Amino acid sequence: MANYLASIFGTEQDKVNCSFYYKIGACRHGDRCSRKHVKPSYSQTILMPNLYQNPQYDPKNKMNPSQMQNHFDAFYEDIWCELCKYGLVEEVVVCDNNNDHLIGNVYVRFKYEEDAQKACDELNSRWYAGRPIYCELSPVTDFREACCRLNSGEGCVRGGFCNFIHRKEPTAELERSLHLSVLKWLQERGRDPRSVSRSPSPEPQQQQQQQQQQRKRF
Ligand SMILES: [Zn+2]
Ligand SMILES: [Zn+2]
Repeated sequence: MANYLASIFGTEQDKVNCSFYYKIGACRHGDRCSRKHVKPSYSQTILMPNLYQNPQYDPKNKMNPSQMQNHFDAFYEDIWCELCKYGLVEEVVVCDNNNDHLIGNVYVRFKYEEDAQKACDELNSRWYAGRPIYCELSPVTDFREACCRLNSGEGCVRGGFCNFIHRKEPTAELERSLHLSVLKWLQERGRDPRSVSRSPSPEPQQQQQQQQQQRKRF
């Protein structure tokens, strides 16, 4: 029975836990949902709901598509650079949806849970573009499950009102350069002590050299 419950946790067969909250980190029923939204105690992913003020949904917007893309690219770069201060960022996902529970949502997945926790704690006392930031740990770890499969390619008929994430894409060049700068930073920083347990440990001599190199940096 316990195995069965574990296997259906967060799926549509689970009558207790909300599958939308589990997969997407947000559900249209919010706090009034009849199923449980179980907030994680640990996660690599943080969610900042409603952070991106999408000009597309502002009735007074006069920007043309290329200005809107620039507006988004500037925001996307800003978020990456700001969040990298808390630790190694693996992925940033911004929702292009227009429904209340997904509009402007920004998800950031870190490599390490402790960095996500630190970011979450500190961001809750910060402001962005004149508005206080609200930040929470999110159960989302696999964005392929959270994003709408029809959003790319043939397109989704629900458009901005889809209950799955419609990811807002930065220009390919920006995305590439952000990933490259993270790689460069990783190379300069050297091995993270936390990654040692995940990969074969270096030879003692090599380890010594690394420690010496690290010392030189300070
Ligand atoms: Zn729900
Ligand atoms: Zn969709």
